Amino acid sequence: MDACPICDGVQTAFYARQNEFDFVVCRDCGFVFLFPMPSPEALADVYDDEAFGIGRYPKATSRKRRALFRALGLWPYFVRKDSIDVGCGGGFVAEAMRRLGARASGLDISPGSIAYAKDAFPRVRFFEETFETFLARGETFDFIHSSEVIEHIGDVKSYMKFLSGIARPGARIFLTTPDIAHPAVPEDVTQWDMFSPPRHVQLFTQATLTRLFDAHGFDIVKRYYKKNAPTLQVLARKRGESTA
Ligand SMILES: [Zn+2]
Repeated sequence: MDACPICDGVQTAFYARQNEFDFVVCRDCGFVFLFPMPSPEALADVYDDEAFGIGRYPKATSRKRRALFRALGLWPYFVRKDSIDVGCGGGFVAEAMRRLGARASGLDISPGSIAYAKDAFPRVRFFEETFETFLARGETFDFIHSSEVIEHIGDVKSYMKFLSGIARPGARIFLTTPDIAHPAVPEDVTQWDMFSPPRHVQLFTQATLTRLFDAHGFDIVKRYYKKNAPTLQVLARKRGESTA
């Protein structure tokens, strides 16, 4: 049995089955994750059919508006700072940060999304790369936005090492992911639309997300609770003294 990727515990129990995938729960820390975890290739296949491109993106107008609202709430953390949206899709949040004063970048693995983003928002730097390739560039940031990404990542430890690797000391990360412990989640978790393997391969609680961040050098400094939406939204700070 593989160890829990958050606490390295080896005791797990069956949690629930969905789409012929089994989720287990770690008996030590409560983390809920797919076991066995599908291969990176199998997970990548899920996204192969995204056929966005130059000039078209679903719901672009409402995405622009929502991105601006999101960015307004985070403005103090990125204004005049090197900032990146990891898993940027069509680039809406990266562009909103740029408009509000950030030196903005966006990273996504989807060619269609990045083609759209480069065309629609030419003043933002966009990268169509894997996390590993981007990490090797050695670029670092003061602010990282990563919304609804971590629940898709098969190797969560590698993802956290990536985030830590691009975060300067004192950098802030704003991260969102579904909240499996939220009161709005259906009693039968298999009825929850976020409970959707292999798109979502793990689901967090405040406790497991806090523990994961702590293990990789970050402190959660702010939590944004949504009464009606089962989502975790946190601001974390990379430990160390900022030099900016
Ligand atoms: Zn655990």
